[in-house]
Amino acid sequence: MQTIEHPKDAKAITHLRDSKYIVVLGSLMSGLGKGIVTASVARLLNDQGLKVTAIKFDGYLNIDCGTMNPYRHGEVFVLDDGTECDMDFGTYERFLNQGMSGTNSITGGKLFKLIIEKERTGKFLGRDVQFIPHLTDEIKSWVKGVGAGKDVVLVEVGGTVGDLENGYFIEAMRQLSSETREVTFIQLTYVPMISTGEYKTKPTQHATRLLQSMGVQPQIILVRADGCLPKDSKEKISQFCNIPLEAVYDDPDIESIYELPLMLEKQDFTAYLMKLMGMKKDGLNLVQWKSLVEKIKNPRHAVKIGIVGKYTKLHDAYVSIREAFIHAGAALDTKVEIEWIESEGFENDPESVSVLKDYDGILVPGGFGSRGIEGKINAIKYVRENKIPYFGICLGMQMMVVEYARNVCGLKGANSTEFDENTKSPVIDLLPEQRAIKDKGATMRLGAWKCELAKGTRAFEAYGKQSIEERHRHRYEVNNDYLETLEKSGIVLSGRSGHIVEMVEWKEPHGFGIGLQAHPEYKSRLEEPAPLFVAFVKAALERKKK
Ligand code: GLN
Repeated sequence: MQTIEHPKDAKAITHLRDSKYIVVLGSLMSGLGKGIVTASVARLLNDQGLKVTAIKFDGYLNIDCGTMNPYRHGEVFVLDDGTECDMDFGTYERFLNQGMSGTNSITGGKLFKLIIEKERTGKFLGRDVQFIPHLTDEIKSWVKGVGAGKDVVLVEVGGTVGDLENGYFIEAMRQLSSETREVTFIQLTYVPMISTGEYKTKPTQHATRLLQSMGVQPQIILVRADGCLPKDSKEKISQFCNIPLEAVYDDPDIESIYELPLMLEKQDFTAYLMKLMGMKKDGLNLVQWKSLVEKIKNPRHAVKIGIVGKYTKLHDAYVSIREAFIHAGAALDTKVEIEWIESEGFENDPESVSVLKDYDGILVPGGFGSRGIEGKINAIKYVRENKIPYFGICLGMQMMVVEYARNVCGLKGANSTEFDENTKSPVIDLLPEQRAIKDKGATMRLGAWKCELAKGTRAFEAYGKQSIEERHRHRYEVNNDYLETLEKSGIVLSGRSGHIVEMVEWKEPHGFGIGLQAHPEYKSRLEEPAPLFVAFVKAALERKKK
């Protein structure tokens, strides 16, 4: 059973220099991009030389996102330590270019589990355990613990002000503010434009009043809108929401999320925020970031990549893949146009796979469950036979092996035991340590694992080194009983972690094809694109040139 790791220094905070806290709250509705705001602010402060980290609070009663369906909730993001968390953590890591850990994620589930465990072990003996002070104390101590040794902690509160499930967390932040005087509240709001062409600030005025009724006065209001607000609208927000005019900032629609730090900086945001925190802005060099954003917006080349999977209607299920393509694209001055292709179509009508010839590369991403599996295998066969560059991630790698076993090694009916328990050729099988596991939460092979790459392989060339680490989330692996058969038929086993095959490749007469058990998209950053994404986009560019 997973234990919840409370930050170690939480109790020893009194002797530490106080950190500053910035609490980001969303009002009126979800989907305003709180995660991107939090990450952008963190990035701007980080570039001031401050030690910055971020916390995300999610009100749901799950311990983590591990058991959530990405179709409903968006991608499950995985950290080095194996934490399965909200996709906002991907945004934090990509903007901050810094890894996070499980303690950065606070959920309602974790908090209640902790409190009840404490109660059962007699930690509150004699007391009735209450939201205030017990739960709020727990939250403050957790937040301070994460802040130990950091200058600034960004705290993003999931959900919207007024939700039942984050009220106690906002109360804890109010208490933290009155106790430390080191908290800055940023309220993100939405200002709609009505058909007369006017921006309407009244919903924001009400939303701020609701927040004030909870004892919290925002010091900065960030306005999501389709454009920048005219001065009179900002004056209204300033007057009715009780904040200076200069504290109202625009967060308009932008082409790329990576533009937001630049957009804020254009409005001199960092200087104002630093002043609020009792510090002075001291230079800010966004030149490199700016040039990467420029490459995202005005690239010289373009390629079209097809992603064959399920969930393709909900692109949030594959956010990190989309972002990793943006990063690889920026590095190669290339726009990577992505098209999502439902694999089920190739199952019902196998001939239809020929549409894949119009793509410069095909990727099959990770996934669970049997829907659309045969369609993926049909697609991979077509791609291999027509030398279209192929990239298989986790399930995409496993299906690459199944396809090869069936169609090149001649193992008819080869499969993964995830989809056919009784297959005669189980080329993909459960990891031995997974066999006895019954619990669903945090029980997969998770987090960063070392992998040794074989010299002379495409993988080695892409990473430029032998020993690498990528993040995992799976229960199945290539069955070692079939390695000899696979290798004899030409598959290259290019990466291993102990006895586990982590990477496979096609070689001549087949074209570019790499599959890996891990998810390299999780560690891709704008400033450090994932090497295999770069190699794949390069191969796609080459195919296009031909
Ligand atoms: N379902 C497969 C497994 O558990 C693949 C998982 C994935 O693609 N992340 O091994």
